[in-house]
Amino acid sequence: TIGMVIIDESGEISAGTSTNGASHKIPGRVGDSSIPGSGAYLTQKVGGAAATGDGDVMMRFLPSYQTVEFMRQGAAPSEAARKALARISQFYPKFQGAIVAANVKGDHGAACAGMPSFTYSYMESGERHAYHYEEIRPRS
Ligand code: ASP
Repeated sequence: TIGMVIIDESGEISAGTSTNGASHKIPGRVGDSSIPGSGAYLTQKVGGAAATGDGDVMMRFLPSYQTVEFMRQGAAPSEAARKALARISQFYPKFQGAIVAANVKGDHGAACAGMPSFTYSYMESGERHAYHYEEIRPRS
């Protein structure tokens, strides 16, 4: 899955995902990516989040929605994402997934579970085609 959170110059936030589905997709499966709150979610004035991983598990927890809610309560993006994933791992210890998040201030971060590391890229405003990469490791 490719997940994105975009904040434009006026502070308007967009988020979305594009996916080819789970590795062993069964015919007719829709998956989590197209479900608001699961694949991606945003609230203007707070921030946005997008998720990748085992969609059949994730869609039961709306992890993108939960990440944005944790940010609304004051958590930094990476901490909000970590807490949202922890809610899943608590019930599914072998769950694999990751969340990227950004808030309206432009702070960004990510968290992952069930994998050794996860890399996301970001571009700050004003930069032309200058992408930076951040590699993160799971925390419990
Ligand atoms: N979340 C996607 C799905 O389960 C897979 C992925 O993120 O790669 O369809």
